[in-house]
Amino acid sequence: MQDKLTLMIPGPTPVPESVLNSLGKHPIGHRSGEFQTIIKKTTEQLKWLHQTNGDVLTITGSGTAAMEAGIINTLKKGDKVICGDNGKFGERWVKVAKAYGLDVQVIKAEWGSPLDPNKFKAMLEEDTMKSIRAVIITHSETSTGVINDLSTISHHVRNHGDALTIADCVTSLGACNVPMDQWGIDVIASGSQKGYMMPPGLSFVAMGKRAWEANKTSDLPKFYLDLKPYLKTVQNNSSPFTPAVNLYFALETSLNMMQAEGLDSIFKRHSRHQKATQAGIQAMGLELFAENGCGSPAITAVKPQDIDAEKIRKLVKDDFDILLAGGQDHLKGKVFRIGHLGFVNDRDVITAVAAIEGTLNKLGLLKFPMGSGVSATLSSLKEN
Ligand SMILES: *Cc1c(COP(=O)(O)O)cnc(C)c1O
Repeated sequence: MQDKLTLMIPGPTPVPESVLNSLGKHPIGHRSGEFQTIIKKTTEQLKWLHQTNGDVLTITGSGTAAMEAGIINTLKKGDKVICGDNGKFGERWVKVAKAYGLDVQVIKAEWGSPLDPNKFKAMLEEDTMKSIRAVIITHSETSTGVINDLSTISHHVRNHGDALTIADCVTSLGACNVPMDQWGIDVIASGSQKGYMMPPGLSFVAMGKRAWEANKTSDLPKFYLDLKPYLKTVQNNSSPFTPAVNLYFALETSLNMMQAEGLDSIFKRHSRHQKATQAGIQAMGLELFAENGCGSPAITAVKPQDIDAEKIRKLVKDDFDILLAGGQDHLKGKVFRIGHLGFVNDRDVITAVAAIEGTLNKLGLLKFPMGSGVSATLSSLKEN
């Protein structure tokens, strides 16, 4: 049905009407007092969201720009780094690090499993010469729906003493607790089209004190993503280049909404929806892809047996106007992924589960009585 499609992919995520409406204004001058007020306010709000006293800089670009900025502004040519790789995004940061000539050591885990913090601990402890400069990991691995133990890994990095923790928190920030300062994370990257409930186009890179210290000796090539001019200008409520002015209007509205809801309530909501989705999926006889207890609060990957996952995904879209995400690379056709990140309520989760259940029934693949999935989802929502 026209205009009725509901996005339940892990980005872009649904956008509230008030956020959409804030986009529909004439752009204003980016050096105007009015715009400076918005930069000042949103910068404070972003620090609140990251739970940090460090700096959060806004870049016009997608999440990858923020992550690349974090890497190239803190490291030097030939620096030794450890990259965690247990999915598509882990792979991406290995590629970025290699593209800039870093000496990359990779710690891998199977897709569907979390990274093992003990492997990081061992590699960091072995490094008595302190040659490892950074550990680069993805907190919520969107491609597999797995959450990595960022808190423990960054703890091991702190014990090493010299290395930085650079984290992709694109689908964890605004979904679960990511207290940057408390966990000792040095760099966090995120993007507007995920937990921020905004359209794509802005990305955010948070830099702590140790990250700025490392910045002093960083010599990797950079111009548009050189963070020093961003820091200098944001201190005067300005920006080095013409920012996506209208997206800032949306950013202010979405951060206002997030502050009105409160961090704890936002995390609780995501956790409830994760549990309710998992309960519904399992009650209709489908398997979760992520290892038990390691599911991401933003996304649930499902591994249906004996059927092409793309077939389920297509019918859910055609019959129910709900867009689910497919599997990437070798998981194509093997899994589908349900996004429950950002502007999502109980109704969205219930209808997604019902649509999947109806689709299985249509295909003659439902192994349990019709309604088992929806019933489990409703019970889970009531209990949690
Ligand atoms: C979406 C996403 C990104 C950013 O991707 P862009 O397309 O550059 O916005 C990075 N990491 C993870 C884990 C993501 O889900």
